[in-house]
Amino acid sequence: MSTLVIEGLRASVAGREILTGVDLAVAAGEVHAVMGPNGSGKSTLAHVIAGRHGYNVSDGSVRLDGTELLTLPAWRRAEAGLFLAMQYPTEVPGVSLLDMLTESVCTAEGAAVAERMQEEAERIGFDEKFLARPVNVDLSGGERKRNEALQLGVLKPAFAVVDELDSGLDVDALRFVGDRIEDATEHDGLGVLAITHSSRVFDHLRPDAVHVFAGGRIRESGGAELAEELEAEGYERWTPTSPKSDAGAAPFTDPFGDPFADLLT
Ligand code: ADP
Ligand code: MG
Repeated sequence: MSTLVIEGLRASVAGREILTGVDLAVAAGEVHAVMGPNGSGKSTLAHVIAGRHGYNVSDGSVRLDGTELLTLPAWRRAEAGLFLAMQYPTEVPGVSLLDMLTESVCTAEGAAVAERMQEEAERIGFDEKFLARPVNVDLSGGERKRNEALQLGVLKPAFAVVDELDSGLDVDALRFVGDRIEDATEHDGLGVLAITHSSRVFDHLRPDAVHVFAGGRIRESGGAELAEELEAEGYERWTPTSPKSDAGAAPFTDPFGDPFADLLT
């Protein structure tokens, strides 16, 4: 049985530590929701797992079935079975979706890939004209997300990190895309890390566990009821914003005190 195990993951970007010790384990067929406020580091977590450049990982590990992913380039991580559905899917001018997926799967399987793409497109209501067009170029937010779901359906990864699936999706598109991923968890044993700031996506992609993510790490874990609690109460409990809050403040030192006082005690 496949498992994705994240342990003590710390990472910084532009000299600032964003991930401050993430621990998480997802088994095949499970959906784990990671819910947190804007700017808490959720997309950073997704990018660090997938191997995007520009992040400095200072500690920890991310293992897929025992294989350490952090030392591998992004394409090797994909080869090991990892898939990232991005919050803002990137445009790839000059490369068609058909060419991209044919190369991703295996050139010898080319013909079968085209067929599978058509099946998947039909399943999620994605217009077939996009298959031959450059990846994501001039597509709406919702079309880009359907495109991500199509790629997932064709590539059949072991694990998917899905970042803010519902952003840019109307209710119908969310149903198509959410149901497609949920179906992959049930029939193909896909494990999912569903990163989101709202619980709208859980109408279709049902979580087995919910984790509260704030300040760059997981603060609390529970079942689906935790998502309802967060929807009702927000994240305030985990994000001290009051100027009176002394969370994380440096210990007070008196600038006029005796510099040698510590040595005498
Ligand atoms: P979330 O997805 O939870 O909204 P992000 O992971 O996108 O949060 O961002 C977490 C923090 O890291 C934010 O303060 C953001 O500004 C900062 N950050 C993310 N990427 C970069 C980057 N490339 N350069 C500088 N700061 C970044
Ligand atoms: Mg984000």
